Amino acid sequence: MKIHLPTYPQGIHDIQQDLLPAELDLDPQLFTHPIHAAIRLDRHDPYFEFRIKLETTANAECDRCLSECAVPIQAQAPMLYVAGHPPKGDTVDDEGIVYIKPGTIELDLTADLRDFLILSYSGKHLCSEECKGLCATCGSNQNDGPCNCSNS
Ligand SMILES: [Zn+2]
Ligand SMILES: [Zn+2]
Repeated sequence: MKIHLPTYPQGIHDIQQDLLPAELDLDPQLFTHPIHAAIRLDRHDPYFEFRIKLETTANAECDRCLSECAVPIQAQAPMLYVAGHPPKGDTVDDEGIVYIKPGTIELDLTADLRDFLILSYSGKHLCSEECKGLCATCGSNQNDGPCNCSNS
């Protein structure tokens, strides 16, 4: 996703866009739905402050019952782009700050958006909060009903 900076004068802008997983180089096996991006840009040169909100649905494997399920993915992150050079002697460790060339016309957010989504995708997934998981004895899915082991 590219932001054409001359389109946005100083001030606050709300940018909404639906992106396809392929546009963000995301695995189409995992990310099966369009990604809704709601971006607030607060431009006050040389600062371009972004509040980025991403929403989509992805395929995942339930942590308890191992079945495939669709999970909602929400990512929220601030990003700060600064036109100019990093201050001397300052090791650029802050991952939330990106320095761009003064006079940059097009800001490419693709890599950052992809990283945010992958980050919020990682971790545990459940098909439902009430997922009963697998029987420790016979391995059958307890969501499909009790197995014979539980009769004893
Ligand atoms: Zn489950
Ligand atoms: Zn069982």
